[in-house]
Amino acid sequence: MNNPVVKIENLVKRYGDLVALDHFSLEIREGEIFGLLGPNGSGKTTTINCLLSLLSYDKGDIAVFGQKMTPSSYDIKKEIGVIMQNVAVFDELNVYENIDYFCGLYIRDKAQRRQYVDEAVQFVGLEDFLKFRPKKLSGGLLRRLNIACGIAHKPKLIILDEPTVAVDPQSRNRILEGIQTLNRNGATVIYTSHYMEEVEQICTRIAIMDKGRKIAEGTKDELKRMIRNTETVTIEVLELDEAVRAEIAALPHVYETVFDGKTLTVCCSGGKHNLIRILGVLQAHAVSFGRVYSELPTLNDVFLEITGTALRDKEE
Ligand code: ADP
Ligand code: MG
Repeated sequence: MNNPVVKIENLVKRYGDLVALDHFSLEIREGEIFGLLGPNGSGKTTTINCLLSLLSYDKGDIAVFGQKMTPSSYDIKKEIGVIMQNVAVFDELNVYENIDYFCGLYIRDKAQRRQYVDEAVQFVGLEDFLKFRPKKLSGGLLRRLNIACGIAHKPKLIILDEPTVAVDPQSRNRILEGIQTLNRNGATVIYTSHYMEEVEQICTRIAIMDKGRKIAEGTKDELKRMIRNTETVTIEVLELDEAVRAEIAALPHVYETVFDGKTLTVCCSGGKHNLIRILGVLQAHAVSFGRVYSELPTLNDVFLEITGTALRDKEE
């Protein structure tokens, strides 16, 4: 097993009466793209701020690269690249100057710095905007600048807190691909998001958070094996007798059926021929139907089964 890069043990953080982190533990190993997935308010940013010693906490231990993390752990901090949820750049500096400034906090040698800054510019694709002030950039370009500032000094651990919120699809893809490239080039990555599709797409291991607690952890396949849902079948039907719905509900592997007047949703656990059997019942009763979907479980289903609420519903 690879070396642990981050080890958080029993972290408790209160804001007054609110318990933002409730005995939260986490171990992240070298080479991972580790996803912290959770709805807004679940404690992702608080975790990152405690991890970086930017925020004091009530209880627990945090080690980074095997050493205890403290506010004055500069040796550790220079190996970490942080991309905060709220973009943090200087309005009075242009794109190039911003990246150069942040890189200069760690890289003193001028020639080397110039090379690193150029590489970061290329990496996020901001070559055409070097002289632009941040205010002149679109949301997506501003995010890319924020990322360039965080990674230019080539840190071993890169932490990105919701880097794709309010970003256009083109910048979003570029950011996700960029994270994978940084990882291939040797960086360990911590990536927080409330977008489960993104986390599924790029993360090698995932912890799902809710209300300051870790509710599940594993690879995306491991997480999906924790729940009973294996397939959700959705069928557009305009009319459905209760007796027909009950017949479908009684099929093998079917554990839940919901008809809302327009669509029939059938949740199945295991089995191979669920869709055929369900459609067979509809045909036997001459029920006409429209579009049919069969979906494998998503991380949303994992979240739903464990917490009783859909992650999606909490997104807005
Ligand atoms: P996330 O990043 O997952 O959206 P946060 O870590 O920002 O979650 O917040 C976790 C909880 O702590 C939320 O209930 C939030 O309202 C609360 N919280 C965050 N920052 C503060 C603060 N500075 N003062 C009081 N409560 C806070
Ligand atoms: Mg946050």
